[in-house]
Amino acid sequence: MEKTLNNMKQWDEQDSLKEYRNEFYIKDKTIYLDGNSLGLLSKRAEQALLSMLESWKNHGIDGWTSGDNPWFYFAESLGALSAPLVGAKKEEVTVTGSTTSNLHQLLATFYEPKGKRTKIVADVLNFPSDIYAIQSILKLKGNDPKEHLVQVDSEDGRNIREEDIIKELSDEVALLILPTVLYRSGQLFDIKKITEEAHKHGILVGWDGCHSVGAIPHHFHDWGVDFAYWCNYKYLNAGPGGVGALFVHEKHLGKTPGLTGWFGSQKEKQFDMEHTFTPAQTSGAFQIGTPHIFSMAPLLGSLEMFNEIGIEKIREKSLHQTRILMELIEHELKDFHFNIANPTEDKIRGGHVSLEHEEAARICKALKEHGVIPDFRKPSIIRLAPVALYTTYEELYETVMILKKIMQEKLYENYSNERGVVA
Ligand SMILES: *Cc1c(COP(=O)(O)O)cnc(C)c1O
Repeated sequence: MEKTLNNMKQWDEQDSLKEYRNEFYIKDKTIYLDGNSLGLLSKRAEQALLSMLESWKNHGIDGWTSGDNPWFYFAESLGALSAPLVGAKKEEVTVTGSTTSNLHQLLATFYEPKGKRTKIVADVLNFPSDIYAIQSILKLKGNDPKEHLVQVDSEDGRNIREEDIIKELSDEVALLILPTVLYRSGQLFDIKKITEEAHKHGILVGWDGCHSVGAIPHHFHDWGVDFAYWCNYKYLNAGPGGVGALFVHEKHLGKTPGLTGWFGSQKEKQFDMEHTFTPAQTSGAFQIGTPHIFSMAPLLGSLEMFNEIGIEKIREKSLHQTRILMELIEHELKDFHFNIANPTEDKIRGGHVSLEHEEAARICKALKEHGVIPDFRKPSIIRLAPVALYTTYEELYETVMILKKIMQEKLYENYSNERGVVA
């Protein structure tokens, strides 16, 4: 069905989240569709960082226990504010580390090979860092990754069939590690169902939520997910290098972490300075060293908005925007050999649209030159992520019109078809 600019303007007018766009710093004459890679700065995030500096200025060392957000408890208090986004109890979430370092920690804790149960099942389409971490824990435990890491294949190179994952589950498997949403195609897995299937075989399950937290509701606690980890700089707009987060299900709290450090101590014991580690009885136990307060502070401002709105509303708008974007693409770009690589069904579609084209790298360069910020993923994917808090429907329309012009006039031919250093 044809969608007109007027339809877009109407949706923008009726959008109950429209005021939130004013909360963000949006560069003039640019359409930012890369919020799934690095979200934009909001005024509240900026304010939160400034007030953390203020707290250092005013309190010095006493900032650990004084001020509006005492640093000593900040990882846990941000965790509590993140809990509604992932459907967790507040003590199950802590803001700490990075996606990769948290995965290292969780693998070190939960990968306990015993007898013939030695394998870790992952998939061939996961982000490389996750796979590197899995290979490294296997080596540390003396198990050759070639034999003990099983990567579920993808038939089309884009998506993974859930049956193919379930087929690999057996009593030889210790852990199943999967992304909630695949970073290229945007496929969203049935987290509940896969977790239940794995549990039937006595397998623990860990989920990488990088591409879903802040875009999609989760119920990690109720689904019995064993652990999860994610970054906060994508949909959650915590800024470059923003500290990540982890979830450990209540049933595992109290377990001694694989990698121990003094910030994982029970708060009351930490400054006793004993050489015997007493882990916190919360997910705070999985911290290692002193929290990176300034890289955590922006998240405070950002989470305030997410909690005001509620993640269900964000998902509703996100699904509608990606649906509209796909319809515009299908209608306006049908002559130009684009292929929509993401699942189109709502239930299994993440937060971005994944467009495939053999000229993708240079189409992305042409888009940037024309004020649209997409992102390119090898070999031939253009990711377009409308972000519910700040992307307008009118911008989606303009994006597709600009893309149409680039294709009609072959403007991409002015660029080389190679990726940049960061892409
Ligand atoms: C973004 C992303 C990462 C990044 O890890 P960092 O440790 O934050 O650099 C890891 N895994 C996935 C699936 C991602 O999308």
